[in-house]
Amino acid sequence: MCRNGGRVIDSECRLSNYNLDEFAATPEAVAASCAAREAALRTLGDQKSLCVSNPTSDVCRAAMVSRREEFSRAEHDAVYTSSRRTRVTQMFNRVRDQYVAMIQASTRIPQAHKQGLVDRINSTVLDLDARLYCSDTGLSDSARLPVGAYNYPAGGHAAIEVCIGTMANLERMNPYSVMWILAHELSHSIDPCNLEQDALRAAPDTGAPHQADRVFPGLARCLRGGAGARACTRAIIRCNEVPASERRLLCIQELERSGDVFRPPPEDGEASTALIPSEDQITACLTRFDRTPSCAIHGDHTHHQSQLPESFSDFMGAEVVARILSQDTAAGALDAQGQLDALASIAAADGSGSAPNCEAGSGSYATRDRYARGHTRVNRLLMGSAAFRAAVGCPAARAPATRDGGATCRGF
Ligand SMILES: [Zn+2]
Repeated sequence: MCRNGGRVIDSECRLSNYNLDEFAATPEAVAASCAAREAALRTLGDQKSLCVSNPTSDVCRAAMVSRREEFSRAEHDAVYTSSRRTRVTQMFNRVRDQYVAMIQASTRIPQAHKQGLVDRINSTVLDLDARLYCSDTGLSDSARLPVGAYNYPAGGHAAIEVCIGTMANLERMNPYSVMWILAHELSHSIDPCNLEQDALRAAPDTGAPHQADRVFPGLARCLRGGAGARACTRAIIRCNEVPASERRLLCIQELERSGDVFRPPPEDGEASTALIPSEDQITACLTRFDRTPSCAIHGDHTHHQSQLPESFSDFMGAEVVARILSQDTAAGALDAQGQLDALASIAAADGSGSAPNCEAGSGSYATRDRYARGHTRVNRLLMGSAAFRAAVGCPAARAPATRDGGATCRGF
C-alpha cells in the first residue's frame, strides 16, 4: 500500500489492490484495446471499411458483435504478455513447491494421506490461455474487468485460470497478495469438497462424507468454530448440515423443478396445476442426499452451500504465504513495512471476485454466499493462522475466539 503511492482505496471503496480505473487510463491499456479492435476489424473483411468510416453505426456494431470471439482473444493476447506470464508462473511455482514441502513436513496430516495431497497439488497447472470462468468483460469496459482466479477441473487434474483484470494489474499488485490468491486457488485442489467428491467417485454407494476430517484432523471444526460432532452448532461460517425436516422439503422442491412428477387429474371439472412427487421419488432423493458430499449437497442448492471450501482455501492460502513471507524476511528481502503492506494487500485481495473488506451495503454477503463474511475472512480465517500473524508482524494479534472453536487453527 505504501508502495502504491498512498492510494488507499479504489473507486469501489475497496482497499486498493486492483487499480482498474487507473489501468484503463494507462497508455498501455489504450494501446491494448486498440490492438484488440484492430485485430477484430481485420477479420471483418469487406465490412472493415464500414467500421473505419463510421464506427458507431449499427452495421459496424453488429459486425463487431459477430466478431466477439476474435475481439476477446485479441484482448487476451494483448494483456497476457510474455513478461506477465513469466512473472505469474514464477510465483505459482514458488507457491506450489512451498505447498508440497509443507504437506510433506506436516506433523498433523496423516502419512497415509500425504502422497494423495502432494499429487493433487503437483498436478494442478496454471492455464493462462483458459477463458472459461472469468466473465468476458473486455478492455472497453476496464473498470469492470474480471479479477481473481479460478480452480477448475480439466480432465483428470485441476487447472487455474487467472482473470484478465488480475493479469493487467500484475505489476501494480503486491506480490504476496498475488501469491495468496494462487495459494487459495491451489487449496481448492485439496479442499473438503474436492476430497469428498473424489471419495464419492471411488465408492459411489457410500462416498466418504467429512473425508476432510480424516485428512486434516480438527481443521474444519476449528475453522467453523462450532461445537458438536460436525462442528456446526454456533459455527461462525455457514455449515452444510441440512436438518432432516428441511431435506424432505428440498427434495420435494427439486422434484417439482424437474417436472418429472405426478399431475393429479382434474377435480370437479377444474384442472389442477399441482405437481406431486411420489413417496418413492422422495425416498430415492433422500438416499442420494445422504451419499452426496456434505459440502456440495445436491450441487446447486445454493441456499445451503457450505462456506467450508472457501474458508479452508482462505486459511490454507494464509498458512502457505506465511512461510514465503517468513523466508523473505529472513533473507532480508522484506522489512516490517513490507510485511504490513502484504497484510493490507492480502486483506484487500479477493480470490474469486468478492471483496472481503467491503461487505457493507454490497449485498454480496447474503447467506447464500459461499464465502464467509468479509470481516470473518480477514479477522478470523487469515488471522487464525499463527504462522501468518507472525509473518506479517502481528504475532500477538490473536484472532477472535468463539465459544466452541479455536481462535488459532493449524493446517499442517
Ligand atoms: Zn476460492
